[in-house]
Amino acid sequence: MSETIFSKIINREIPADIVYEDEHCLAFHDINAQAPIHILVIPKKPIPKVADANSDDQAILGHLLLKARDIAREQGYGDAFRLVINNGEAVGQTVFHLHIHILAGREFNWPPG
Ligand code: AMP
Repeated sequence: MSETIFSKIINREIPADIVYEDEHCLAFHDINAQAPIHILVIPKKPIPKVADANSDDQAILGHLLLKARDIAREQGYGDAFRLVINNGEAVGQTVFHLHIHILAGREFNWPPG
């Protein structure tokens, strides 16, 4: 997989406002926030998108979801947050390093645009 802006953040080659890190994942504020809280949770393993994950990635995918939940709680949005994963250019993915968007702090519509 070619290097992305997110692998550069993991490697500290470019700065980010990091809120959480462990051996498997990193979470940081989105540079173009779409809600009062907009944080991205990414695996350190460079999986481009959900469609590229395989059965070996089951634990890391679960870890990302639970950490997203924990981060939303820590930010004060206990049960009122939206998690979004864009999979593929056609649906708006722009960075091809898997990431979960945590969005909270405003009203959300359904279906999403
Ligand atoms: P997606 O469209 O799902 O691929 O989301 C990519 C997200 O990455 C967008 O919400 C961007 O605002 C965000 N983003 C791009 N570059 C950076 C960066 N250097 N630091 C933080 N967030 C970024």
